[in-house]
Amino acid sequence: MRFCCDCGAPVTVRVPEGDDRERFVCDQCATVHYRNPRIVAGCLVTAGEQVLLCRRAIEPRRGFWTLPAGFLENGETVAEGAVRETWEEARARVELEGLYSLYNLTHINQIYMFYRARLATPEFASGAESEAVALFDADRIPWQSLAFSAVRDVLQHWQRDRLQGRYPLRTADIRVAADGRRSIHPAL
Ligand code: ZN
Repeated sequence: MRFCCDCGAPVTVRVPEGDDRERFVCDQCATVHYRNPRIVAGCLVTAGEQVLLCRRAIEPRRGFWTLPAGFLENGETVAEGAVRETWEEARARVELEGLYSLYNLTHINQIYMFYRARLATPEFASGAESEAVALFDADRIPWQSLAFSAVRDVLQHWQRDRLQGRYPLRTADIRVAADGRRSIHPAL
């Protein structure tokens, strides 16, 4: 950030009085521009023994399969965002069945939250950000072609949890080492 979005004056980076970390501060109108993590909301949509996946039409990870998900909008609950993203990316109407996963991705300042959901109607289709949308049998998930490690983790939990018929909330921290390797650490 170089300019204040409230008044247009240049901003400086400094620790505001009473704070303990550097912020973008406007010295003209005194606004402190906080930057905080963003929430990505999505759905693990099932139909019987199958799960709905979208093949990404956009970068990053174009051509790889993912769960319908995207950034929460202002004024929206996480559940509303998950339902909206599922409609936008998979043209699927869903009924939520409960919050299932929460991932902290501190390296990119994002939080992923996935609900379990079931298809409310049998229709689905590619939305603007998907080049294909399809139902996969639980034992035919394209593990080698998944877009993100969080998506892989959600699907691995779902594969096991569905056998028990119980779906406790799964939380984990996804970390990236200096060499770029990702690791997933179960969290409370
Ligand atoms: Zn300002």
